[in-house]
Amino acid sequence: MGERKSRLLGSGDIDVSFEFFPPKNEKMEEQLWQAVRRLEPLGPRFVSVTYGAGGSTRERTHATVARIVRETALPPAAHLTCVQATRSEVNDVIRDYWAAGVRHIVALRGDPVSGVGTKYEPHPGGYASTADLVRGILEIAPFEVSVGGYPEGHPESPSLDADIEHLKGKVDAGARRVITQFFFDNAHFLRFVERARAKGIWCPIVPGIVPIHNFKQVAGFAARCGTTMPAWLARRFDGLEQDPATNHLVAAAVAAEQVMDLVDQGIRQFHFYTLNRADLVYAICHLLGLRPVTAGNRLAATA
Ligand code: FAD
Repeated sequence: MGERKSRLLGSGDIDVSFEFFPPKNEKMEEQLWQAVRRLEPLGPRFVSVTYGAGGSTRERTHATVARIVRETALPPAAHLTCVQATRSEVNDVIRDYWAAGVRHIVALRGDPVSGVGTKYEPHPGGYASTADLVRGILEIAPFEVSVGGYPEGHPESPSLDADIEHLKGKVDAGARRVITQFFFDNAHFLRFVERARAKGIWCPIVPGIVPIHNFKQVAGFAARCGTTMPAWLARRFDGLEQDPATNHLVAAAVAAEQVMDLVDQGIRQFHFYTLNRADLVYAICHLLGLRPVTAGNRLAATA
């Protein structure tokens, strides 16, 4: 019988990235930095910081990314949306990132101002689409640009085919990586990758993984972004609302199962939505074969 590929992993086989959100207050800042410090030794390819709807976290995102540049060896990626902003406002943000030493932007359109599910209206003087934003970023400086992808289709798209066609426009504009919305049924992701390849999208398509620290909260996110919450998944967390210790163990088991199954399907890159918490992500990375890079084992690896 063949060995499961996930059992054979060694450090170096897997590439991970971690996503954080900018903190709103000192307590959240402390929690964020504990998570960053805990995950840093795992040597992620990059860590990204989200941008609040309509640029509401512009300063906080910039401050968080700038601190990552100053105080860590982690390559940062700054998320950027073009909602509710003129081209020149967005261009200022892009130039500020370059000046701060940031070389990677996750380019996004952002959600409609009037809420998910309503019609998106570009700012009259702004970037008209994500592809347009990708081109604008690359005209300013040679950033690495990543974009979002939707394994189950974006809530606004008429079909998955139309969505993938739209994605191709973002990649053709210069994006070098697709990071996906989170999902729980791996079949959606694998089908999405197959269909994207068939349309000629050849850059890395990295699955976005969210560990379920809090089922109710993640179910709320899922409902807003069109991710299916399978009934079997809800059953696994059923009755654990008042039992955080068991909830935590179940969350680790669920995320590990999802990621290991993707490894068995040949996937080697993962983007983790950390929600600024390190514990579950750290454990999953450990299962994936990642080990902290210390001065000692860095030297051993290069000897
Ligand atoms: P796009 O892919 O450009 O558009 C979304 C969909 O709308 C398309 O897939 C397509 O189906 C349809 N569409 C759009 N324009 C057209 C058109 N002209 N013709 C036909 N169809 C069209 N949001 C934030 O506010 N801040 C963040 O930091 C953030 N980070 C994210 C990170 C990732 C990895 C992902 C996947 C999403 C993130 N989001 C973030 C959410 C994102 O802003 C929303 O999902 C938004 O609604 C779509 O942004 P997009 O760049 O993916 O849009």
